[in-house]
Amino acid sequence: MINRLAIFGATGDLSARYLLPGLAALRAAGHLDEEFEVLGSDRSDWTSEQFRFWAAAQLERHGDASPADARKAITASARFHRADVTDPVDVASAIAGDEPLVVYLALPPALFSSAVSALDRAKLPAGSRIVLEKPFGEDLNSAVELNRQLSEVVPEDAVFRVDHFLAMTTVENVLGARLANRMLEALWNSAHIAEVDIVWDEQLALEGRAGYYDGAGALKDMVQNHLLQLLCLVAMEPPISLGERDLRDRKVDVLRSVRPLTDNDVVHRTRRARYGAGRVDGHDVPAYVDEQGVDPDRGTETFAEIELELDSWRWAGTRFRLRSGKALGRNRKEVTVRFRPVPHVPFGHSGEVLPNVLRFGLEPESLALDLTGTGSRARTFAPLTLTAEMAAADLPPYGRLLLDVLTGNPALSIRGDEAEEAWRLLEPVLSAWSRDLIPLQEYPAGSDGPSPARPGG
Ligand code: NAP
Repeated sequence: MINRLAIFGATGDLSARYLLPGLAALRAAGHLDEEFEVLGSDRSDWTSEQFRFWAAAQLERHGDASPADARKAITASARFHRADVTDPVDVASAIAGDEPLVVYLALPPALFSSAVSALDRAKLPAGSRIVLEKPFGEDLNSAVELNRQLSEVVPEDAVFRVDHFLAMTTVENVLGARLANRMLEALWNSAHIAEVDIVWDEQLALEGRAGYYDGAGALKDMVQNHLLQLLCLVAMEPPISLGERDLRDRKVDVLRSVRPLTDNDVVHRTRRARYGAGRVDGHDVPAYVDEQGVDPDRGTETFAEIELELDSWRWAGTRFRLRSGKALGRNRKEVTVRFRPVPHVPFGHSGEVLPNVLRFGLEPESLALDLTGTGSRARTFAPLTLTAEMAAADLPPYGRLLLDVLTGNPALSIRGDEAEEAWRLLEPVLSAWSRDLIPLQEYPAGSDGPSPARPGG
């Protein structure tokens, strides 16, 4: 267990809303030693006292699930040191000491590369670890370069590329449903499963995030990382164990098995769109291009959808659809597994038989199975939905994630080659979209998204 956590970008939103509350939850659950300390830094001219005062306010606002004494202990353990993360001298003084530490880069992603090179020059104590948030690079080349830089500072198992989707209990739900059930895993292949939808549709619009989002868009912000990670969990071969190598090797296999998309595939199997003005949940939402900080000429999409096929023994013939959009009419955040229809209905009437559907809710986390065949006298076979209430996790996602980082368990962090494969498979889409091979559609905020008709034909 490492007892020093240096947060670069310590007064930012991630730190306020997730890291500090995650630490308070760890403290409350007894996971942190007495000597644990938080070393906050960014370019503010704050004293440690000012930082503690600010941290206490953030913990009251975002960390009230943890008891007051745990929050107080985190605040009391915090110190602040002004540092520009691009300056090796500043960085060296912020991380001074011989004990290993965890360095959390809670920074705008554009700074990752210069931060890593400053850490290299500042000489991290042996045994230290580095944590980065997605996006890991902004395309394949930059991801390869960032990985190369990181490899010069710490070994791969000390790099934690975190994707907080993997800290949700969804991971346990998907793996548990698949691997702890004789029934389901026997049907878990293309002979029985027609399609899998991995969907993150949200009502949330831009909410002032233009600075980051307008340079990324839905494909890079959601599909390249979170949704591909979910694809890996749904489609991977059962790993020998949930140890980091077994689990991550199997996930990389899935990414490698995705059939490369041609320009023609991009035209017929992808859609991109951005929202126009509308109303979401009773509130007016301006068009994306009218949001503050958006450059309309960038053509950034707020909705992305791609269909993938996997060239593997298990999955050839199953369609995987990944989709995410902002400012939509309803939140729909789920993985839907649709089974093939039965081969013959011997009941002598023309009633439609609905397919069996298994749904993993991502927010709120749930598990539901639609069983058909319950109304054999009905013309349409009514589904019986079995829903499992998920027990609340003992730690919030960022608590689990920080525990893994502090204890040195990288199983749920993204390995370097995994990040690169995820970019590699999206390169044809990025390239075709940048050449405007398919038009950027528009959908009114508050709608179901763009017309399902594919603009390319
Ligand atoms: P943010 O609110 O803009 O905070 C960025 C922090 O970086 C600030 O403390 C800023 O302080 C500091 N900073 C900027 N330039 C710096 C420099 N040259 N040297 C030292 N510090 C510098 O951003 P955020 O929302 O916290 O996001 C941070 C990371 O978390 C990003 O990678 C983001 O993708 C990821 N993330 C965020 C969320 C979220 O909900 N916020 C969720 C998931 C992932 P100064 O400008 O005062 O230096």
